[in-house]
Amino acid sequence: MIVVGAGGAGLAAAVGAKEWGAERVLLLEKQPTAGGHTMVASGSLNALVEGFGDSAERFFDDTFEAGEGKADPELVQRLVEGSRQVLPWFRSLGVAFEDVPYEAYNGSWPRAWRSVASHPGFRFISALMRRFKALGGEVRYGARAEWLLTEDDYDDTRITGVRLQGGEEIRGRAVVLATGGWGANAHLRRRWRPQLTDVYRTTFSPLRPEEDPATGDGIRMAEAVGARLRDMDAVMAIPYWGGRVLDYPGAEMFLDDSGRRFVDETATWSAIFEKLIETGASSFWVVTDERSRKGETFAGKFASGVVKSAPDLASLAREMGVDVSVLRETFRQHNAAALSGEDWAFGRKCFMQTIEQPPFYFGRERFDIHYCCGGIAISTEAEALSLEGRAIPGLYAAGETAGGVHGRFRLGGNGLTDAFVFGRIAGESAASFAARTVREMRTRRPKRA
Ligand SMILES: Cc1cc2nc3c(=O)[nH]c(=O)nc-3n(C[C@H](O)[C@H](O)[C@H](O)COP(=O)(O)OP(=O)(O)OC[C@H]3O[C@@H](n4cnc5c(N)ncnc54)[C@H](O)[C@@H]3O)c2cc1C
Repeated sequence: MIVVGAGGAGLAAAVGAKEWGAERVLLLEKQPTAGGHTMVASGSLNALVEGFGDSAERFFDDTFEAGEGKADPELVQRLVEGSRQVLPWFRSLGVAFEDVPYEAYNGSWPRAWRSVASHPGFRFISALMRRFKALGGEVRYGARAEWLLTEDDYDDTRITGVRLQGGEEIRGRAVVLATGGWGANAHLRRRWRPQLTDVYRTTFSPLRPEEDPATGDGIRMAEAVGARLRDMDAVMAIPYWGGRVLDYPGAEMFLDDSGRRFVDETATWSAIFEKLIETGASSFWVVTDERSRKGETFAGKFASGVVKSAPDLASLAREMGVDVSVLRETFRQHNAAALSGEDWAFGRKCFMQTIEQPPFYFGRERFDIHYCCGGIAISTEAEALSLEGRAIPGLYAAGETAGGVHGRFRLGGNGLTDAFVFGRIAGESAASFAARTVREMRTRRPKRA
């Protein structure tokens, strides 16, 4: 069988298929290296673990409500249940996690797990790749799948392989599409979300958009064989590469050009984006202090000057170009709200600390395209569905290229969970389908006299 895309979902599918017992699994990757968006993820990985006050019901509700009730409830259920196996699986592959979960940005509850070692995306990818190779899997880099090969089988079109860029055809009994999103494809964006014009960059590679592999190849391939697409306009933009240096909410302020707060900083990214647009601005200030726990991007941002420090409030105001008395009042109101838990101005509920311990860290932030919630409609077994809602024989999809798991908005930390849970399911389903077709072929073969 063939897996297209060696990111989190593709590698989980490839390993899942081999662990299921698939004989030959070929993993195709268009880039010279594996990893895709998974490689650069900050590493908030949601998983249901007993003993931390979380529950399947709460996880389900948080995911479903974040998606504005538009996700497929059966897929959400599968995500939640499947998340129980994610940490044990990675631990068995040598990835260690911190002892206590935290609440990821837009995560609703402390259920995100961070790997102990830095560069979590890299840890996940290398652990899966090691396992895949140890199980005898094959990988081809620089191999861009362009089309699905098909065969008519009674009423259905059966998928029989892929054609690569350059024309080479590779036959397989099942194909898993795990090609990631399409946020970097301006043509597809214009089709489904024209508001996200060409001026927007992506969080994967804001300065070099041409390096972002999220070009929607899987979407195009699946659509060409009659797959149903869903929630395609649900494309998320978030602030990531500017002044934001925390992976959790509750310890920073978002300020307008006058040095005043303009929003509940812990609201959903879409709500914050709308508020920013209302102010007429396209960027804003982010300010935190010494005590907050800095995330993966901090060191690089600080070294490059994207994020700076100020020893006191007066220097901070000077560097930001705002009136110091306005800034002092902003801090006073924020800290009073943090202590009382009552934010009269914006109704914020989550305060992890006051912001008062110098040095202060600050930088400009803007929204970049981050995640595509919609994609190829799938069943709970990760089968790609046709326009009529039937499984397309031999075609599976998982991760960001699939739709229905998140609805209109993805809960923070659920992107990786989705990739690993449904990737593994897709691999197992495809392996089982491939094995069935081999058995069928053998029983159909005429016996020798
Ligand atoms: C900066 C950043 C930070 C993030 N942080 C988090 C986080 O902390 N927590 C979280 O839950 N989510 C996070 N996300 C989202 C998360 O990374 C994604 O949801 C997840 O990695 C998607 O996995 P995937 O396997 O579907 O896609 P990817 O990991 O992008 O993999 C897709 C792969 O398919 C390959 N490919 C594409 N087309 C073809 C083709 N035609 N032929 C062959 N190969 C192809 C690509 O090159 C790529 O390697 C983050 C995303 C970004 C960009």
